[in-house]
Amino acid sequence: MAEYPVAPGEVWLVGAGPGDPDLLTRKAEKLILSADIVFFDALVGPAILDLIPDGVERVSVGKRAGRHSKDQRTINDLIVAAALAGRRVVRLKGGDPSIFGRSMEEMAALAAHGVTARICPGITAASAAAASAGLSLTLRGLARRLTFVTAHARDGETLELDWRALADPGATLAVYMGKSSAGMIAKRLIGHGLAGATPVLAIENASLPEERIIRTRLDLLEIATRALGAGPALLLIGDAVGSGRLPAGTMAGDGRADQHQRGDREAEAGQADI
Ligand code: SAH
Repeated sequence: MAEYPVAPGEVWLVGAGPGDPDLLTRKAEKLILSADIVFFDALVGPAILDLIPDGVERVSVGKRAGRHSKDQRTINDLIVAAALAGRRVVRLKGGDPSIFGRSMEEMAALAAHGVTARICPGITAASAAAASAGLSLTLRGLARRLTFVTAHARDGETLELDWRALADPGATLAVYMGKSSAGMIAKRLIGHGLAGATPVLAIENASLPEERIIRTRLDLLEIATRALGAGPALLLIGDAVGSGRLPAGTMAGDGRADQHQRGDREAEAGQADI
């Protein structure tokens, strides 16, 4: 297509997907190969960074909960400066840039300086998590609605969510950045009428070799999430989540590593299957 590779002085916001480099789009890979500078988030894993050719400048602008290495304004300034210097800029973001990715702040900063910016979509964490668990986020008769929500409030703000709407037994709820507030989320949802027995999956490092899936229920969620490690984790809540066939050969990837992974997963799921 005519609009890429990256032109000098132009910026592409590129979705890096959930971590497995095979889940990167072909377009994303072409853009990475044509950049001369790549800015990346903490969530963009090493296997994806390995695709960046030698000689291409890499700049980590990682942000993780509680550890802001660079604030958003600094990131905007860096990207704008690189574009104005005539570089071919790729801004790699975990998952899909349009989902809890603060992409509009970067797009606005670039537009304010007259820089052309485009977006390449990516596979979002919820899609990868559902695939790993062998389930569908929507399900006829059980989940007619799918809600993506973040449990992360802006610094200094309390979390204001429409709990009544979220406690919908006919929906699947995908909670991003919800690990540390899992107990509070469960309490609020139950308080607004969702059954304590509602199935929940907590998926950490979806699509990566370190992936872990914990199957639990809403009223036990807080205890169950204590078993999670330091990786990014997503919560999937709702009756459709209970129908997954974990881990019946649905994993992407290959042979032996998969077997091993699946074995781990089974152990994990068994352990926390409460
Ligand atoms: N734009 C990203 C989301 C950024 S918010 C996307 O579309 O996926 C960061 C949150 O995404 C993490 O706190 C976690 O909740 C979720 N996440 C990202 N990658 C993940 C992964 N590989 N496994 C599980 N959750 C992940």
